[in-house]
Amino acid sequence: MLKIGTVRWRGKCSKHPMFDPYTDGAGAVKGGCPRCQSLLEIHECHQKMLKLMRTFTPPQVKKKAVNPFEDLQESLF
Ligand SMILES: [Zn+2]
Repeated sequence: MLKIGTVRWRGKCSKHPMFDPYTDGAGAVKGGCPRCQSLLEIHECHQKMLKLMRTFTPPQVKKKAVNPFEDLQESLF
C-alpha cells in the first residue's frame, strides 16, 4: 500500500518572482533560468503524478441521497 499525505509547497524564483509554470508555461522561462526551469519541472512532475493517481483511482461521483420523506412533504399542500 502507498500512502501520501497532503503536501503544501511553494517555490519562487528570486530573479523572476512572477513566473508561474501553471499559467505561463515553458515558453516564459527567461534565458534558461535554472530556478524557473526547476519550477517548471516540479510542476510537470506534479501534474503527471496527479494524472497517474486519478488513472489508478478515478474520483468517485457521489450519488444524491434519496430522501424517504420527500413524498410526505407534497401531501401537506
Ligand atoms: Zn528565474
